[in-house]
Amino acid sequence: MAFSYLSHLICPKCNLSYPANKIQQLCTCGSPLLVEYDLERLKLKLKPGDLIRRPPTLWRYQELLPVTSPENIVTLGEGMTPLLPMSRLGKEMGLSRLWMKDEGVIPTGSFKARGAAVGVSKAKELGVSELAMPTNGNAGAAWSLYAARAGLRSSIVMPVAAPAITRAECAVSGGNLNLVNGLISDAGKIVAQAVAESGLYDASTLKEPYRIEGKKTMGLEIAEQMDWKLPDVILYPTGGGVGLIGIYKALQELVTLGWVQEPLPRLVAVQAAGCAPIVKAWQEGKRESEFWPDSVTAAFGINVPKALGDFLVLDAVYNTQGCAIAIEDAELLEEQLTVARLEGAFVCPEGAAAFAAARRLREAGWIHEGETVVVLNTGSGIKYPETVQVEVPVLEPGERLVRRK
Ligand SMILES: *Cc1c(COP(=O)(O)O)cnc(C)c1O
Ligand SMILES: [Zn+2]
Repeated sequence: MAFSYLSHLICPKCNLSYPANKIQQLCTCGSPLLVEYDLERLKLKLKPGDLIRRPPTLWRYQELLPVTSPENIVTLGEGMTPLLPMSRLGKEMGLSRLWMKDEGVIPTGSFKARGAAVGVSKAKELGVSELAMPTNGNAGAAWSLYAARAGLRSSIVMPVAAPAITRAECAVSGGNLNLVNGLISDAGKIVAQAVAESGLYDASTLKEPYRIEGKKTMGLEIAEQMDWKLPDVILYPTGGGVGLIGIYKALQELVTLGWVQEPLPRLVAVQAAGCAPIVKAWQEGKRESEFWPDSVTAAFGINVPKALGDFLVLDAVYNTQGCAIAIEDAELLEEQLTVARLEGAFVCPEGAAAFAAARRLREAGWIHEGETVVVLNTGSGIKYPETVQVEVPVLEPGERLVRRK
């Protein structure tokens, strides 16, 4: 039996197909490419029960991943993150079946590790020696660290305002880090120029087809962890949208394999009110988004003013009867405290936005009390120490404990 059932690449816009055994970036029409597998053949060979004895990493889904030889796998043990019941928080929100898929415990502290593990492994398999990418922080951190493990060189460009820890992660990896006095879109232009001039492998969001495949494993894991009975709603903090596109792709592949039944969960794209191009497009019934000027939010990972894959995110939302919703920074920061206080989970601001969205959609009656709801916490709160204000007594030695009322 083959290690991977990788077949070819296909353009979701113009339907052109490309071979997957050499480097491909965007389609000639400018669209991102998607990875296709020989699912009809795989369906006859693999059953859900065959996975049981495999190691608890995302590589347990090897047949549905693009790496064709096991020796090219670059891993730090990523995947199979906990799916935790959130009963105290759920009770407070009026949701009796609320779950958190916790990506805070994955290597590099954010789910970007999934895209990096699969993306870097495939780059290595294709003979890449040096990659470049713009980032809002977490992706650059993950890709430079996985590149280090693979022995590849990396050039990363991020805004000076990106979370300081992600800067340190890139630096410690030995990657070539540049900061830009601007936004991720400015970093993108710098990378594009370097790619054009020096022939570097362009690992920008969706400009190589394999990052989606790594992020897709969140959807595969949710399905497996729920014993192949899909939840009613999945909420996802959406920036470039790769995670949501990936989850949707995973669920469709599982339907084709006959491992899960439709209807698919209603997919919810959660954005910050200070950067909500997908929400605006959804509200207007559009299939693509427009550039969001002067974007700003504490949830740095979802500060993406225009996503290359916006049409794919919107397709996923429309096709599953999902929705898109924006959350103010004050509200998501408040939710971050509530989640920690009631559940002991220090979630990232992006994850907190998704919890706040669940609360709002429950209040609005869009989610019903007994529905099974999965919120993606895409990273650890520990990566954003500056988002929490700490005001506590400072004692002199010998002073008495100050207790809160
Ligand atoms: C990148 C990022 C997101 C957004 O992910 P996309 O898949 O690009 O939409 C959300 N949360 C965190 C913590 C991130 O780093
Ligand atoms: Zn095309």
